[in-house]
Amino acid sequence: MKKRVCVIYTGGTIGMTRTEYGYAPKKDFIRTALSEIKELDSEEMPDYDLVEYDPLLDSSNIAVSHWIQLAEDIEKAYHQYDGFIILHGTDTMAYTASALSFMLKGISKPVILTGSQIPLCEIRNDGRDNIIAAFMIAANYDIPEICLYFGNKLFRGNRATKISSDDLIAFDSPNYPPLAEVGVRIDLNKDNILAPGKDLEVIKFQNHQIAVLKIFPGIQFEVFENIMTSNLKGIVIEAFGAGNIPEGGRALENILNKAIENQTIVVVCTQCLKGSAIIGQYETSKGLFEAGAISGYDMTVEAAITKLYYLFSLNYDIDTIKKLMV
Ligand code: ASP
Repeated sequence: MKKRVCVIYTGGTIGMTRTEYGYAPKKDFIRTALSEIKELDSEEMPDYDLVEYDPLLDSSNIAVSHWIQLAEDIEKAYHQYDGFIILHGTDTMAYTASALSFMLKGISKPVILTGSQIPLCEIRNDGRDNIIAAFMIAANYDIPEICLYFGNKLFRGNRATKISSDDLIAFDSPNYPPLAEVGVRIDLNKDNILAPGKDLEVIKFQNHQIAVLKIFPGIQFEVFENIMTSNLKGIVIEAFGAGNIPEGGRALENILNKAIENQTIVVVCTQCLKGSAIIGQYETSKGLFEAGAISGYDMTVEAAITKLYYLFSLNYDIDTIKKLMV
C-alpha cells in the first residue's frame, strides 16, 4: 500500500516569494509549488496531505506556542500517517527540531524538518531536492526520530545547528554523525538511529524564562546582573573552549551568587562548533564549579535551551533537573 505523509508548512524561505521588501511567505504558494514537483507524483513517492499554517511565519517569529501547536497537530494526525515533514524556515529550524525531540516523547515515526536557502519560486533552488529526499526518507525508512534534512544529510534534530546563512550546506551536526547520507544511494547509519518508542506522549512546554549569555574577552558582567531575577529558571552560558570563563568565575561571581540565591540552573556549553564543555577541565572553570553550574558537554545551545524548557515543564525539582540535564 502507498505510504502517506503529512506535510506541514509553517513558513520560511522555501515557500516565500519576492515582495518589494524582500522575500516573504505567501499563502497557498507552497501548494502550487509542491504540485509542480512532478517527482512527487511518482509511484515510489508517498501520497501527502498539506497543512499550511496561518499566519505563515519567517522562522525568526517562531515561539514556544508554535512548538506546542506543531506537537499537538502531529499528535492529532499521528495514526493517519507514516511520517511527517515540517517545512520550516532555516533560521530557527534547529531550535524547533530540538524542541520537538523533547516534546514528542515515545515517537515511532519519522518527523523530518526541512526547508531551503533559496525559495522554490527561483529557478535555481535547493528546496526541490530537500523536499524530494525528505519525502523519500519519511515514507521508506524506519527512522523513528525528529530529524532535520538539509544539504544531502539527515541529522538528529537535537544535534543539528545552522552553520551558514548563505551556503546550501546550511546545517551540521558537529558532535553526532548524520543519521543518513544522500548521494548516489541513500545510506542509513542504522547504528546511530534511536529505537522506536511505544506510545506518543506530548510534553507541552511551559513558557519559562530562560537566558543565554555568551562570554567574550572583556565582558562586563554587571551589564547582565539585572536579568538574574528569581523568574529566571535557567541560564545557558556559552563559555570559551572546554567551558572556561574569564578569571575563573570571580568576575562572574555576582551573577553566579544570584543564580544560587534564586535557584536558577546554570548550564555551561561551549561556543565552539564542535567538542564539549566540561567544568573542571581547566582552573578557569573553578567559579562555575563552585556555583553548582552543570556541564552541558557536547550539547548544542539549541538543545540546552529546549531541554531546560522540557525539564521545567515536567515540574521536577532543581536537583532532578540538574541530574537530567546531563
Ligand atoms: N528567514 C528565513 C526563515 O528562517 C530564512 C530561511 O528560511 O532560510 O524563515
